Amino acid sequence: MADLDLELAGPETVPDVADDGTWLTCIECGEQFAPFDDVIYTCAECDGLLEARYADRPTFEDFEGRGVWRYSAALPFEEGVTLPEGDTPLHEVPRLEEEVGVRNLRIKHEGMNPTGSFKDRGMTVGVRVAQEVDVDRLACASTGNTSAALSAYGSRAGLETLVLLPEGKVAAGKIAQAALHGARILEVDGNFDSCLDIVQDLADRDEAYLLNSLNPFRLEGQKTIGFEILERFYEDEGRYPDRIVLPVGNAGNTAALYKAFRELVQSGALAPGDVPKLTGVQAEGAAPMVEAIEEGREDTRRWEDVETIATAIRIGNPVNAPKALPGIRNTGGTAVAVSDEEITEAQRAIAGEGIGVEPASAASVAGLRKLRERGEIGAGEDVVCLTTGHLLKDPDAAAEAGSDPEPVPNDTDKVLAHLQGRDVGSGLLGKLVGLLR
Ligand SMILES: *Cc1c(COP(=O)(O)O)cnc(C)c1O
Ligand SMILES: [Zn+2]
Repeated sequence: MADLDLELAGPETVPDVADDGTWLTCIECGEQFAPFDDVIYTCAECDGLLEARYADRPTFEDFEGRGVWRYSAALPFEEGVTLPEGDTPLHEVPRLEEEVGVRNLRIKHEGMNPTGSFKDRGMTVGVRVAQEVDVDRLACASTGNTSAALSAYGSRAGLETLVLLPEGKVAAGKIAQAALHGARILEVDGNFDSCLDIVQDLADRDEAYLLNSLNPFRLEGQKTIGFEILERFYEDEGRYPDRIVLPVGNAGNTAALYKAFRELVQSGALAPGDVPKLTGVQAEGAAPMVEAIEEGREDTRRWEDVETIATAIRIGNPVNAPKALPGIRNTGGTAVAVSDEEITEAQRAIAGEGIGVEPASAASVAGLRKLRERGEIGAGEDVVCLTTGHLLKDPDAAAEAGSDPEPVPNDTDKVLAHLQGRDVGSGLLGKLVGLLR
């Protein structure tokens, strides 16, 4: 049974600093802060991570309506800047389920959000808070999807948006989105972690409102992934999934899902034994969380050089590790690293079920496969894999992983001949082309 760290879920008495039943608490020293008076991202006393707390804790009966704002009982506001987001499909994948060998396998496809990633769930809440604290410039560091989401929600809200990206390391679709939605795009000669250092400095100097997952309110929006999975899986199967497998970059989602489960356990809506095991997957070339879990560490070591085809999780210093490591441990989950080849292979397998995801997303299925092979995940488990972003985010990776186009002459008979495996062209040249393919 899960050993949930419920102490983190806050005191029963609402502190004076609370605003309409919402406040912020430092997860390290317990200091409490007013949520919307001053702009704060980390603890003023000890620089620890902050977590949003509410006077009321949600039960399933409190949820009504659609999308992220269905869960407003667990959010700081009733509604926000919406496109709208959430309500993503929980796909059945019978062939993959059979191949992997678990009782149930579902894919929660977050690529079906408005800008094609789960980041939209965080932004609808985060930009609403930005309006509340009355800032005029939004900013984020990004491996791509955060900037795409922030640009869209920023423009929707009519706010100036600044995004800092690691030069040459962002997938084409994501930059295109940020560009068209009108963000100012700064390409930094450094990796994601350097971009985040700079944007945190800018935020500290009050030059911009930070919307990375260090911002505790973004994680409130992302919490709704956890609520949706529980509700939908229960509708289908009459029970909750045993395990949720997800890709891990900055570990914001891992922290957010853990918080969703703790809040439901606190309200009595979910039994501690029904909390899914949070299982994180990283790429071998960027796996500080896996290292921390394997070595039993309380924190992560910063990896300076990170590399992987899964650019969305190409992160060496996961800022939410202090929230996410307890989430993995206390739910009885684990973490595993997968190679780029395993990621690409999983991306193909998911695509074989009609679901198009970007490489980082496929890490979830690659990790599940590996843990099944090692016997760490049992055949009797109900598993949900989270796929975080859409295939079209990274068209180059998709084209690389998929089959090559076959050039054919502009002639039906020759097309037929080609399909039947005979020569395309005439003579030697055609044969050469065939050989080279
Ligand atoms: C942001 C992102 C991740 C990483 O999520 P974290 O919450 O930072 O761990 C994974 N996949 C995709 C597609 C993303 O955009
Ligand atoms: Zn503190």
